[in-house]
Amino acid sequence: MKLLEDRIRKEGKILSADILKVDRFLNQQMDVALFEEMGKEFRRLFADEKVTKILTIEASGIGMACLCAQQFSCPVVFAKKAQTKNVSGDIYTSKIMSFTHGREYDILVSAAYLRPEDRVLLIDDFLANGEALRGLIDLVRQSGATLVGAGIAIEKAFQPGGDTIRATGVRVESLARIASMDPETGIVFVGE
Ligand code: 5GP
Repeated sequence: MKLLEDRIRKEGKILSADILKVDRFLNQQMDVALFEEMGKEFRRLFADEKVTKILTIEASGIGMACLCAQQFSCPVVFAKKAQTKNVSGDIYTSKIMSFTHGREYDILVSAAYLRPEDRVLLIDDFLANGEALRGLIDLVRQSGATLVGAGIAIEKAFQPGGDTIRATGVRVESLARIASMDPETGIVFVGE
């Protein structure tokens, strides 16, 4: 998606060979008009999938997921991150290794919000090693809902997550795919 790629190039900060900061429009300050366009693009890509629920993970995916849900006229559910193992009740949980924090989390969602009859689209801001998506996919599987795929804003295609998740048969659509990035020379998108 050219609009997003241009924005990343203009306002993204490459902190290291594998961390991109997009706080100016996506992760802290949020450009809602841009999110709306991204939501429309996800809607176009998954138009025939009869999505009934968007599932994301707190916190940075939530804003984008809301604008996306508006296009699908469905609710957003976000998985919570918890460090405690004392989760009880009617809850689905999975464990993921956080890319940005370098530690393991339990993620959890109430069983009330993911039902077997749901058709779920996963939405997240970044795809790196694929841990966040793997955890979300696990929650959907536990619920018995149908997973229609995943919509990602920025895939760092030089990291293994995209290939790993696609190899399991899950449809992953990323609006911007970074082939490589370097604090000195900048970003190259896939296909450039
Ligand atoms: P993964 O689980 O695929 O390894 O990493 C995805 C998660 O880590 C995303 O939810 C995102 O919050 C965070 N993340 C991964 N790489 C980056 C990055 O380069 N920049 C930022 N801001 N977040 C990232």
